[in-house]
Amino acid sequence: EFSRQQNVFLSSYNESIHQAATRKKDIQKMLIEAIRDFNIDVYFQPKIDLQSRRISGYEALMRWFTDEYGYVSPLEVIETAQELNVLFELDKCVMKKALSIIKTLPHIFTVKSPVSINISARNFGSKRLIDGLILGVQDLGLDPRSIEVEVTEDALLTIGDQVQSSANALREAGIKICLDDFGTGYSALSYLGKLPLDNLKIDRSFVIESENESGRLMLEAIVSIAKSYHLTVTAEGIETPEQQAFLASIGCEYAQGFYYSKALPAKELPAWIDTYQAE
Ligand code: C2E
Ligand code: MG
Ligand code: MG
Ligand code: MG
Repeated sequence: EFSRQQNVFLSSYNESIHQAATRKKDIQKMLIEAIRDFNIDVYFQPKIDLQSRRISGYEALMRWFTDEYGYVSPLEVIETAQELNVLFELDKCVMKKALSIIKTLPHIFTVKSPVSINISARNFGSKRLIDGLILGVQDLGLDPRSIEVEVTEDALLTIGDQVQSSANALREAGIKICLDDFGTGYSALSYLGKLPLDNLKIDRSFVIESENESGRLMLEAIVSIAKSYHLTVTAEGIETPEQQAFLASIGCEYAQGFYYSKALPAKELPAWIDTYQAE
């Protein structure tokens, strides 16, 4: 009896390993096609000005839906793209898609409510990608001040010439730079004074810690660092009114999170904006 059970266990174990391997292969193949066919979607998550409660901008986030496996998260997409050596193509595809959607909604994506686009740390130093973004913005006739770039501090781990020139090129083009997931990487803080940054985004993991005293001290310290370097601060992952109230009280300017809205398809933004403004 025991060994029969064991066999049942082993065969279902083997089966799930097999299924995972099949899924992985399928996802790899489908991702190559999706990038080629421009079939990765981009959604937009609103950002709020904590003082005025007005909408202060949006973050563009990739969304990939597959027929066979449903929604595949950005983290899995990025990991797969990395394995396939097509992270550059992925970022380029998502960037172009984001810009093409932004172009269709000029009353929503404005200088006063800009859209930030994520660029993978690995690609931030790519002159080809950054020039592509700047040219794409120009070609579409978008105001560069309505576009921002989000990059995690991993990209700045070694501030080589490439990272420096990417940052300078964006600054010259009038595109702002947000430092994403601040405090979660291994970077030294020295880059803060060396690069033309505009905004610092506090990672959700710190926001969660606002429940306890040491977490609150940490958040105050982060906001204080940002102010010293004349950066604005955005808190991500706000889910409760308590978190909102605390971050506002320590001088954090902007917030983003499920408390306001998750990322929405562009066509749902007008209705969301109407409802938000009515409240
Ligand atoms: P991120 O740039 O830090 O984006 C914030 C993530 O937190 C998003 O997850 C967003 O949906 C989620 N989030 C926002 N508010 C809340 C909240 O209140 N609670 C919770 N639990 N989560 C919240 P998402 O879309 O799954 O993206 C994960 C990461 O994948 C992003 O982190 C970013 O690093 C990367 N990513 C997403 N889209 C893109 C893209 O288009 N290009 C690149 N290169 N990376 C992307
Ligand atoms: Mg981001
Ligand atoms: Mg972030
Ligand atoms: Mg984050």
